[in-house]
Amino acid sequence: MSDSVSNTTFSDRNSDTSTLINPTLVLNCGSSSIKYALISEDESTRITGLAENLGLDTARIKHTTLNGEKLEIAIPGGRHELALQKILALLEQYHFIAVGHRVVHGGREYSKAVRVDAHVLEEVKRLKILAPLHNPANALGIEAVQALYPDIPQVVVFDTAFHQTMPPVAYRYPIPKALYEDEKIRRYGFHGTSHAYVSERASELTDTTGPHGWLTAHLGNGCSATAIYDGKSMDTSMGLTPLEGLMMGTRSGDVDPGLHIHLKRLLGLSLEEINDMLNNDSGLLGISGLSNDLRTIEQAANEGHKDAQLAIEMFCYRAGKYLASLSCALPEFTGIVFTGGIGENSSTTRARILEVMRHFGIKFNQDKNQSLYGGGEGSFHNEDSSIELWVIPTDEECQIAKETRQTLGLS
Ligand code: AMP
Repeated sequence: MSDSVSNTTFSDRNSDTSTLINPTLVLNCGSSSIKYALISEDESTRITGLAENLGLDTARIKHTTLNGEKLEIAIPGGRHELALQKILALLEQYHFIAVGHRVVHGGREYSKAVRVDAHVLEEVKRLKILAPLHNPANALGIEAVQALYPDIPQVVVFDTAFHQTMPPVAYRYPIPKALYEDEKIRRYGFHGTSHAYVSERASELTDTTGPHGWLTAHLGNGCSATAIYDGKSMDTSMGLTPLEGLMMGTRSGDVDPGLHIHLKRLLGLSLEEINDMLNNDSGLLGISGLSNDLRTIEQAANEGHKDAQLAIEMFCYRAGKYLASLSCALPEFTGIVFTGGIGENSSTTRARILEVMRHFGIKFNQDKNQSLYGGGEGSFHNEDSSIELWVIPTDEECQIAKETRQTLGLS
């Protein structure tokens, strides 16, 4: 084999497979990366990896074996198909019984996960009109598995599906109705598997009896918040595209829709250029002028960098304002769940967001808040707080594996 492999010897190929019983393979095929996880039936054991820099000569697979060993495998030419072939070859020995794909857009058609057939695959491809960067890569993943393992059942789990329970008052835009009826222009919402996972987990962990009303704040490089009552999404911050809503790492979130015409008139920018600017050069990066990574910005802010300080203040103000408004969608407000790289790790961000919501009677323990990071799961509200506060690390792979098994009647 000509792969450049560092740090290991393929010893995992002979490792004990008994701990990975009836595993499901979860694939998240993006435009330049493929994340994967092989998860045992009881969800206790997994093998994970990431193919990154796809499309470039530097493309490689970073694979963690069952024993925790790290492999790096080059992908000459960086083609998606080759990366998938190599990933599948690495995992074949574990005899996965099903494959679950994260698919970004399911349009109006899909309100839950579905088994892949010819029609479903066509729909995933057709919905590229709503997710041009993601759905084509997702379809490639399905086809690669189909070509190599035609007998293994595949399921697609849509990022949008969880939000299909939103009522029209939340999902319609106040624009001419023909655009909804003829062109499907509406709010869809994203990060559905993450919001579903952490809200279900919060309902398991709380002592309060249900039905529960949660606001889930998924704060990572992409950010969204969702109001969930009795397990159903009632409203969410992302809309037709993942650009609407909260301020994010490089995405602006909400701006005045009049901004586009104004920038066109003022600077002669094209719609493509404005779209690119709002998606890639805005958010924490745009305001700080430094980075989209909150750790870098927090460090600069501590050293007195004014734009970094403003970026953090704006991020928290906008998140708190959004959470406050989303509470209107809940018949009862049980609590807030923080997740995502920022939500799980930055206790200062959590505290600042809650400070923005100061009229809600929220009371929390600062020490408990600070103790929750790096994969820690727990609550940090005081007994006399009006609502509960939870940090729950998201696990989209586990949720996709679970929905895949359920869809196929395997659990
Ligand atoms: P994600 O997209 O969920 O991986 O989250 C990425 C974001 O989480 C980046 O902005 C990181 O800076 C942020 N993040 C990760 N760890 C920490 C940490 N310990 N403190 C602050 N932010 C963090």
